[in-house]
Amino acid sequence: MDVAAILKNKGREVTTVASTALLLEVAQKLAEKRIGAIVVMGADGTVAGIVSERDIIRRLAEKGADVLLSPVSAAMTRNVISCTSTDTLDTLMSEMTTRRFRHLPVIENGRLVGIISIGDVVKHHIAEVENEAMAMRAYITQ
Ligand code: AMP
Repeated sequence: MDVAAILKNKGREVTTVASTALLLEVAQKLAEKRIGAIVVMGADGTVAGIVSERDIIRRLAEKGADVLLSPVSAAMTRNVISCTSTDTLDTLMSEMTTRRFRHLPVIENGRLVGIISIGDVVKHHIAEVENEAMAMRAYITQ
């Protein structure tokens, strides 16, 4: 299974914010959408960073509640690792495991076209394993 197949199933909607947005707005959006990370877009329409709930918690612990009134650019990770539509589920699992993060934006021709979370990866991995087991059972019983 590849990223294109996962996106076909989950859709291509990505929640984004401008790099000028306040951390408070980001926290509100994360809560409202029930997601764990938001992609930050630069003024030129390209990906400028990614901010996850962990970044916000870390900044809160370091600086206190006032940090919520700082721009997201103060807390985001700038070196964003992305994937493409042709990457496989195995590649995504390996990237998320070795790099220790749970979100991978999908970029095609420089444009953001989707995002894969660890929840999507686990869901599709379980479906793949179940399909394999079903096929094996059918093969054995025939
Ligand atoms: P997460 O596990 O996604 O909540 O993120 C853990 C940390 O990794 C946070 O500091 C995020 O900003 C960062 N992070 C998440 N996804 C990515 C990504 N695709 N590329 C680079 N950093 C990321």
